[in-house]
Amino acid sequence: MVKVSGLRAFPLIVFGLAYFVVCAGTLRLTRFDGGVAFLWIATALLTARLTTLPVRQWAGPLAVCSLASITATSLWGFGPAMAVPFAIINMLEAAIGATLLHRLAPRRPVLDSNRWLVNFVIATGVVAPLISAWLAAAIIALGAGQPPLKNAVNWYSGHALGTLTFMPIFMLVMRGDAARLIKRMDRSRLAEFCVLMALVSILCYLSFGQNRAPLLFLPMLPMVLATFRGGALAAAASIVILALIGGALTLHGHGPIAQIDAPIGTRMQFLQLYIACVMLTILPASAELQQRTNLFRKLRESEARYRLLTENSTDIVVNLDRTGRLQFVSASVKQISGFDPEELVGRPASALVQPDSAAQARAAFRRTIAEPDRTHVDEFRVAIGQGDIRWFEVQSHAVKDEAGHVTGVVSAIRDVSHRKAREESLARAALTDPLTGLANRRGLDEELKQRLSSGSGGCLALFDLDHFKRINDTHGHAAGDEVLRRFAALARASVRAQDLVARVGGEEFAVVLPDATISQATLVCDRLRRAISGTDLRVEHGLISVTVSGGVAPYLRDQSAEEVLRAADQALYRAKHAGRDQLALAA
Ligand code: GH3
Ligand code: MG
Ligand code: MG
Repeated sequence: MVKVSGLRAFPLIVFGLAYFVVCAGTLRLTRFDGGVAFLWIATALLTARLTTLPVRQWAGPLAVCSLASITATSLWGFGPAMAVPFAIINMLEAAIGATLLHRLAPRRPVLDSNRWLVNFVIATGVVAPLISAWLAAAIIALGAGQPPLKNAVNWYSGHALGTLTFMPIFMLVMRGDAARLIKRMDRSRLAEFCVLMALVSILCYLSFGQNRAPLLFLPMLPMVLATFRGGALAAAASIVILALIGGALTLHGHGPIAQIDAPIGTRMQFLQLYIACVMLTILPASAELQQRTNLFRKLRESEARYRLLTENSTDIVVNLDRTGRLQFVSASVKQISGFDPEELVGRPASALVQPDSAAQARAAFRRTIAEPDRTHVDEFRVAIGQGDIRWFEVQSHAVKDEAGHVTGVVSAIRDVSHRKAREESLARAALTDPLTGLANRRGLDEELKQRLSSGSGGCLALFDLDHFKRINDTHGHAAGDEVLRRFAALARASVRAQDLVARVGGEEFAVVLPDATISQATLVCDRLRRAISGTDLRVEHGLISVTVSGGVAPYLRDQSAEEVLRAADQALYRAKHAGRDQLALAA
């Protein structure tokens, strides 16, 4: 147990030592006028570490860093009396920065978007150092009697810039991202990365190692190149290289900034401003680039997924632009229609459907664009190959751009001809009498309703075979069926093409005669009656003589079907009562 905790304590001690070295270095090198240090990197180190740990594990790093801070301040800073409050302020600053960053951009990779960058700047470059600067300035004013504003400004600029400059690279290293990114590079990428970093170092040295010309723009060239080629790691590393080389040379009196005729503190602040400007150029570019790389990756993945789906689907997938022209047609179109996808691209989709469906197709397209948030389902008739007409079900959804504007439509198209044929035959079956093939009662109702709402009237006749029960009883049910079929055939043969014959009950039939006057209808119906009565029907076991009674009623446009049927039925009833084998007219 002791061994394990000893092992665990080891990295903590190393981390504390690193923090101490960084504190000591910046205090010794950048504390010029008895005030605060002009550059402060230690907070970047601690904040980066805290962002990699859950809050309950913060005690260890905060404790070792407090000790390191106290020691460094006692030896090279404001002395032992101020060491404890300074340590508390430093710890507070790191804790505030890490907490805020976690709140604003939880679990986000470093520099993955400009949103991350903005949150990073707010948390560690604005809020945390502003709080710590005023606390520290107040302590110094109380303890050492120095004016607070100057110390607050110097503390703020040193801490904000130090954290912003160094934290991205510390985070990349501590989260293991740097190692992962380097491991993922192949040889040539790695070589390129090293060359770019070397170029950044050389140009930083060239611009800060001479006093003749203000070549401060020089490092920008390889830094921009490194950012575009090497991503977040290269961007973060080149800023650190610039800060280290530029800072070291300027401190030693080299380079254009060291030539400014001002105290060293002011020169260092100018250097900080310069680094901040470079950083504000490089980091947003890197974040934007990363954001786009992520977007491209997601797009590639979803493209591969949909390609797999469309290539293995029997559905046809098409993309239409805003004007309804085909932009993409999946390969399955060949199998279904015989068309090559390339033949169809560029043609308006409505030209492919049958003329009677074209208006419907255009309306469906407009509806899909007008209501972009739902899937629209429509059915169209389409001619394929050599004039073969098929039914297609089309499911469509609008495609929107980033701003939410509709840029086109994507549709999945399925051949539903089989289903349509089945539906149609079912619909027909529901209206047809299977024994005679005539319309059944429902068929008559629908037809009658339609005839009554159009045209100019006509006549309806109801027929009922006389004593049919006896036929069944004497000759058997099968013979009865045969009689029903024969009557149906005879009835159909006796009327005009536009007339409708229906079987409306067991041995009851109806005949609708549009445009017929009552006398014309009577003539036709009586001919039918006489045709039945006059012939003995030959069935399997002999001859059957059948008679039929009928009732005829005229109808007018817009009369109700029930009314007409009742009138014909009453006439039929009278014909039965009058002795059968005759017609009666509605009163
Ligand atoms: P009416 O002269 O008064 O009309 O006497 P009917 O015997 O014809 O009348 P009823 O209504 O008493 O009998 C009708 C018979 O028709 C009874 C039923 O068994 C028979 N029937 C009904 N549907 C069918 C069928 O599909 N096939 C056969 N074979 N017989 C049927
Ligand atoms: Mg009957
Ligand atoms: Mg009958």
